[in-house]
Amino acid sequence: MGEFDLIARYFTRPTTRAVLGVGDDCALLQPAADMQLAISTDMLVEGRHFFADVNPFTLGHKALAVNLSDLAACGAKPMAFTLALALPRIDEDWLAAFSSGLLALADAHGCELVGGDTTQGPLTICITVFGEVPAGQALLRSGAQAGDEVYVSGTLGDARLALDALRNHTALPAELLAPARARLEQPTPRITLGLALRGVATSAIDISDGLAGDLGHILQASGVGARIDTAIAMNLMASCAHPLWATGIVSFEDQLDYVLAGGDDYELAFTAPASARQAVQAAAQQAQTPVTRIGCIEKTPGLRLIDAQGRLLKRRYASFDHFI
Ligand code: ADP
Ligand code: MG
Repeated sequence: MGEFDLIARYFTRPTTRAVLGVGDDCALLQPAADMQLAISTDMLVEGRHFFADVNPFTLGHKALAVNLSDLAACGAKPMAFTLALALPRIDEDWLAAFSSGLLALADAHGCELVGGDTTQGPLTICITVFGEVPAGQALLRSGAQAGDEVYVSGTLGDARLALDALRNHTALPAELLAPARARLEQPTPRITLGLALRGVATSAIDISDGLAGDLGHILQASGVGARIDTAIAMNLMASCAHPLWATGIVSFEDQLDYVLAGGDDYELAFTAPASARQAVQAAAQQAQTPVTRIGCIEKTPGLRLIDAQGRLLKRRYASFDHFI
């Protein structure tokens, strides 16, 4: 099998929304009138973003999920995506599983594969997603205002719990590891929530590098600060009905790190005025995605993390940086 058979067999399907898909020099998309295109790219590199022996079905899912998560954070509706793939060799079992995981999530969101590039090289997956959003309605990082409240969707910290357990070969009880591993390997992009938050949230970001760092991007872009209740945030781990640290499986400090700086959560952090509390809950209900209020936006720049006793935490969290 060569490059073109591979593309034809695993990555070519008829398109319905796109004007033109795989097979020509360019794909053609037609955004509806008064819609803006939202475009985002994310790359996954073996050894950096996933283990070499990771299940290819979940890898296909995750490669698209992390990209859809960026559309969600902008309140954009997925339209199409391109896939640039470097493969060390052609392994048909791997390709079949990878493309099924990828295309299952694509179908679930009506996001069509319209093109890409395929080359030989160290396993690397680069996806660009295209979404649409009514002109002027995209959720940005820069809209948070003093007095707004800070929310986060879903659960935090579980992906990092799984990553540490897999990396260090720690024996976690199966009932803890299974849901945590699902969060690491098959994150759920919060597309429906992002759409429901249009006109409600004043700013939004998706949490890929940890709550503290990613919320920090909102604070910086908006020129404001925030106060976050870490006691509430710490209870957002899914893998535990009660505080995980109380079981002795991880320390209090580790759980705090998982939740505030673990990364790979792909939840939305967003702000909304206090007057929008009901609208936020209505959006959460519509999207069937729980959201939790974890703090408020303040005028004074900086992120202030408060513990259960109301004390300011000394620990600082920088945003994840591949080069530091
Ligand atoms: P070109 O030489 O013009 O760059 P290619 O020969 O690389 O075109 O690709 C042929 C067609 O297959 C193009 O439409 C391209 O978008 C598509 N394509 C290539 N690789 C992939 C892939 N991994 N997934 C989806 N489409 C792909
Ligand atoms: Mg090409």
